[in-house]
Amino acid sequence: SVFAAGALGALSEVWGELSQAAGAAERLTELLAEEPGIKAPADPKPLPVPTRGEIAFDGVSFTYPASPSRSALHELGFVIRPGETMAIVGPSGAGKSTVFALLQRFYDVDNGAIRIDGIDVREADPRAVRARMAIVPQDVTIFAASVRENIAFGRPGASDAEVEAAARAAQAEEFILRLERGYDTQVGERGVTLSGGQRQRIAIARAILRDAPILLLDEATSALDATSETLVQAALASLMRERTTLVIAHRLATVLEADRILVIDEGRIVEEGTHRSLVTKGGLYAELARLQFEAGVLEDAAE
Ligand code: ATP
Repeated sequence: SVFAAGALGALSEVWGELSQAAGAAERLTELLAEEPGIKAPADPKPLPVPTRGEIAFDGVSFTYPASPSRSALHELGFVIRPGETMAIVGPSGAGKSTVFALLQRFYDVDNGAIRIDGIDVREADPRAVRARMAIVPQDVTIFAASVRENIAFGRPGASDAEVEAAARAAQAEEFILRLERGYDTQVGERGVTLSGGQRQRIAIARAILRDAPILLLDEATSALDATSETLVQAALASLMRERTTLVIAHRLATVLEADRILVIDEGRIVEEGTHRSLVTKGGLYAELARLQFEAGVLEDAAE
């Protein structure tokens, strides 16, 4: 397995690239917490308990060490209040994933600061920062293990009752109980293959189980059938409730429900507002939305 202990050192070095493989990210995050590429300060500041989940980007600029000629983020500033849902929208390469990478502190900012509940993440223990976040990646990793183990991965040591409650909240229990051995069914390699929508609901169940105040959601671009779509949307609603949510949005339902949408392009914020206000404005968002969402639906929604 690539996760063998001996590979860990090498893994932390290539973390930048690996974190692009969003499916593996949550697994690697757990492992790298043991040996973070970015060192904890000698005397880390504790994050408040409970953490309210306010996220602030204050004039954040960042250039990847591997691409020194091009800055990925340029003086990015925003505040997400506890419990708020903010969608990030922007063309490919705009810097959306970089916002997620910096929040998880896979890199440190070059200028400015990122604060969680007012604490600069550089002054906190990276493990404590990551413990406050649940991540639902675009491509969900399903391990060669039982369904139960796959969900429990969200919080190792969770009881069977907790796993099942999370599966119910994630709209996953119905399909799980229809599998030959229910929660004990082997999935992944040499096991049952789960559909895209089922995999997404497993990831949502993991995040519900993790019960972190901050949710980072990298929405899948691949289309689901209408039934799956409805179930995934209901599962997400349950997950996002009362959590600060930052979502890289690809679906109309998501942007419609977001409290605010941040539109970024070439590492800068170019627009900010609700779906309705941004569509009316007729700028970059309106153009992206027109390309990405069905025109008819968009017009109805903008009424
Ligand atoms: P997409 O929608 O295609 O996923 P994005 O908005 O998430 O794009 P980012 O992945 O954040 O964009 O990329 C922002 C910029 O940083 C791009 O120019 C990209 O090429 C560059 N970049 C991203 N990851 C790395 C990396 N690990 N090393 C070097 N440059 C990177």
